[in-house]
Amino acid sequence: MALVSPKQVRYERRSIAGREIPVAVAPTLPRHSVPARFFSGLYSLLTGMKLTLRYFVKPSTIVTRQYPNNRETLKFPDRYRAALKFKYVTVRQPITDWEFPDPKSPTLRLPASLLRDWSRGYEDASYHKCTGCKNCEVACPNASIRVVTRIGEVTEDREVDRFIWRMDSCMYCNACVQACPFDAIEMGHDYENAVYDRRLLVYNLNRQAGPPASLVTEEEDITVRRRMMSHRERCGGPIPLNGHALPNLHALPVTPIVDASTGSIERNSEAES
Ligand code: SF4
Ligand code: SF4
Repeated sequence: MALVSPKQVRYERRSIAGREIPVAVAPTLPRHSVPARFFSGLYSLLTGMKLTLRYFVKPSTIVTRQYPNNRETLKFPDRYRAALKFKYVTVRQPITDWEFPDPKSPTLRLPASLLRDWSRGYEDASYHKCTGCKNCEVACPNASIRVVTRIGEVTEDREVDRFIWRMDSCMYCNACVQACPFDAIEMGHDYENAVYDRRLLVYNLNRQAGPPASLVTEEEDITVRRRMMSHRERCGGPIPLNGHALPNLHALPVTPIVDASTGSIERNSEAES
């Protein structure tokens, strides 16, 4: 392809549809011979391949990630935001009254470190740091967070029941993380979150309902600690989307919940029918 220099362009006025209009006229370029066109094409190809050739002879300069073959070694910059998650405090506590399974059982497939701790009478317990203050919910500009609280059986005070986060509407602005006064949530790097059912993008972030780690660890009796916490499933909360049916899909099973701040019971009639 030959380039036209601005000096070669001629300006003139032409009559188009009865009006005099200024136009720029490019010169008719001479047609090159076949060898000239071959070498011109080759030069153009090599120019385009220059970067590819450089990576071929110097692979250490490659910046493109070979995803998904590099899952094991994939590293993200700190500022990468993939999913909101809870921060957990891991406490190594003695097992006093718990019947743990036989570590030699052939059907038990658990990490060796966990089995070793069990056999020595210890377990690693993870407690969250959320107090259920709802600062993050207020800070979220598009209502992607819903914090449902309850009155704790042991503490008789407000504690988080479900921390519901809508990944499908979150815009990863990080305002919720910055608004949290207890450093209880963070943006994690857990990628590959695609699902076939939109309802599965609404999460309970808390693995357990209950008071924050600072309160739980004050209690020395492990049995009481366990009573403070109750398991929460990853998905399935009724608010605001999870319990609802979608075309050709059944509603997810939901558990009615009581919001301690309003005292109201939230249930999804569509899901129960
Ligand atoms: S990152 Fe922004 S949009 Fe997403 S939940 Fe937090 S505050 Fe809301
Ligand atoms: S995550 Fe932080 S701001 Fe949100 S309810 Fe829990 S303690 Fe409050």
